[in-house]
This record gives sequence, C-alpha cells and structure tokens, in this order.
Amino acid sequence: MREPLLQGLRTLGLSEDCVPQLERYGELLLKKNEVMNLTAITAPDDVARLHFLDSLALLNLTDFCGKSLVDVGTGAGFPGLPLRICRPDIRLTLLDSLGKRVTFLQEVCDALGLEDVACVHGRAEEFAAGHRESFDLAASRAVASLPMLCELCLPLVRPGGAFLAMKSVDCGQELSAAAKAIEVLGGEVEEVRDYEVPGAAVTHRLISIRKVRPTPAKYPRAFAKIKKAPL
Ligand code: SAM
Repeated sequence: MREPLLQGLRTLGLSEDCVPQLERYGELLLKKNEVMNLTAITAPDDVARLHFLDSLALLNLTDFCGKSLVDVGTGAGFPGLPLRICRPDIRLTLLDSLGKRVTFLQEVCDALGLEDVACVHGRAEEFAAGHRESFDLAASRAVASLPMLCELCLPLVRPGGAFLAMKSVDCGQELSAAAKAIEVLGGEVEEVRDYEVPGAAVTHRLISIRKVRPTPAKYPRAFAKIKKAPL
C-alpha cells in the first residue's frame, strides 16, 4: 500500500511522515479482518485509497486545527483514525456501538502509541446524554441516512461547530429529506463539496452542516424512534 499512499498524499499536498503509521494500521486491519468483520475491502492498495485517502481528503475541505472530533459509527476507524494519524493536534473520540470493533481500535491506538485517542463503546444517541454539545466537529461515513444521522451527530456538536457527513455523489434526495431534521436540530447546511479520492477514480461528497443554535433537549430520541419516525 506504500506507493498509492505516497502518491495520494502528494496529490492531497499532505506530508509523507504519517506513512509508516498508516501502513502499520493497514497491516493490523487486514490481519484482524481475517478473524472478524471489519471491512469488505481487502486489497492493501484499495485500503490505502478507499479508507485512508478517502478519510484524509477531508483535511483539504475542513479546518481541523486543534479541534475536538467525534467519529460517529467509526467501525474500523474511518474517517477519524487516519485524520488523527496525519494531524496529531486533532483531539479524537472514536465511537461505535459494536464492542469488538472498539477493542480492535484500542489495540491499534496502543500499537501506534496514540495515547490520547478515546475509543468509546456506545451508541451515539446514548453517548449524547453525557457529551452533549461538547465537540467542535462530528464526522460520520456509511452509518445511516442523513435525516437519522443528523439526530445522532448534531446533538454532540457545540454551537459554532460543524457536522461533516461523508456521502456519495447521488445523495441529493437524502439531503432534501434531511432539511427539516437539520433545521430542528439547530443546524444549517454550510457547504456541499465533491472531492476525488486520489488514485481511486471515484468522487465522493462532503456535506458540512454548521451548528447555529443549541439542539432542543428532547433530541436525540431513542434509536427505535429515530428509525421509525426520522425528523
Ligand atoms: N464509518 C466506518 C466506515 O466508513 O468504514 C464504518 C461504517 S459501518 C458500515 C457502520 C458502523 O456504525 C458500524 O460499525 C456500527 O456498529 C456503527 N453504528 C451504527 N449505529 C450506531 C449508533 N447509533 N451509534 C454508534 N455507532 C453506530
């Protein structure tokens, strides 16, 4: 995976210093993936492009400098962990509802010496009770449709902060369907930007939602309600 990583980092204008840690992470991911379900992407070069570089492309779209970031439904660590590896000033919380994945993430952080990364086993809608409006940024990829995702993520973001939803380019209808949720939860769409994943011949979309008002206390609701009646 070294070559696509080096080329992709050059394309993104990012330092190559993080390559050894990303390679180690990739090794740990593919080894653990043999015994548990972490990713459907198993070719090392594809991991480099579709997981690492897709995550790292965000560094050119948002200011992460010194910010606290919660990655909601991080799975095997995407997008949060590659971002933190390449930008050590990000104060990162990785949140996932599946305990085995969080155990894996803790193992990766231990192996890479990332002592300040919080790996949290929990559901976003429950985590909000103790961490309401306490992050500068929330990010999420491949977790839920945008109306549901907004209710999971926006309550965690402080007013003035932002929620970054990583989506495919055909998410137009999802974005329209989320208009009410965004408004009710105190957000405002700030920017919708398409970006190319270096070396992958694929374009993805980042929806940046600014938190302009506090989220009303009754949100997030229990997951069954979020699912049954999305805002
Ligand atoms: N974000 C990663 C990525 O793009 O590779 C993982 C995506 S995976 C398809 C979705 C993850 O979201 C799973 O690991 C699942 O356990 C987690 N998840 C789903 N609902 C969640 C919730 N309410 N709170 C926290 N994690 C959740």
